[in-house]
Amino acid sequence: MRPFRDAAFFKSAARLDQLPASQGEIAFVGRSNAGKSSAINTLAGKRLAFVSKTPGRTQLLNFYALAGDRFLVDLPGYGYSKAPAAARALWEGTLGGYLRTREPLRGAAVIMDVRQPLTELDYRLLRWFRPTGKPVHVLLAKSDKLSRAAARGVLSRVSAELLLLAPNYSVQLFSSFKKLGTDEAEAVFCRWLDPLTSTSGQGKEFVAVAD
Ligand code: GDP
Repeated sequence: MRPFRDAAFFKSAARLDQLPASQGEIAFVGRSNAGKSSAINTLAGKRLAFVSKTPGRTQLLNFYALAGDRFLVDLPGYGYSKAPAAARALWEGTLGGYLRTREPLRGAAVIMDVRQPLTELDYRLLRWFRPTGKPVHVLLAKSDKLSRAAARGVLSRVSAELLLLAPNYSVQLFSSFKKLGTDEAEAVFCRWLDPLTSTSGQGKEFVAVAD
């Protein structure tokens, strides 16, 4: 099952009172330039998110509609050193509030550059999200940039570190350029969205089939 294949832009929200009614959603977060937009586009199979060479540009929560009143939510990248103060305040206020309090949020997909995983800002996000009890799945993006052996080494190191943080934090290798890791990621995100299939209320069936 490819949960994001029919994704379509729904709305941008700048404030928490602008969020749509939702039966479940997955937030995509990560350091600017980690490869988040490319990962979203790869999973959607089309250009959905803006792939930028200018980090720190997107300022809003972008909602993309999936089947059954569910959403993929693209959050602005964090940690861009030249981000204006307003962008930092947005992360500390609106986005932080969203991640901590959004009831329909099923989990966070955290995108990290395989060559620079688990930065201090990533740790901050992971620790800070942990009290929600919701799962995190890390995509180690741009894994084509490393040899297979080196990428596997990073995977096992990050996996061990995540296990220390929370039992429901997981990780995989991913490459948008080589289309690596899409089946694995889709299986995880389907599992997160799947419990809601019978509560859509819109008559749109969403049946997850294991890959
Ligand atoms: P974002 O800021 O996290 O949304 O990152 P983008 O998706 O805009 O990508 C940042 C840069 O990394 C761009 O120059 C992309 O072309 C490059 N990039 C993204 N995904 C991959 C990948 O899978 N492999 C490689 N080699 N480069 C990638």
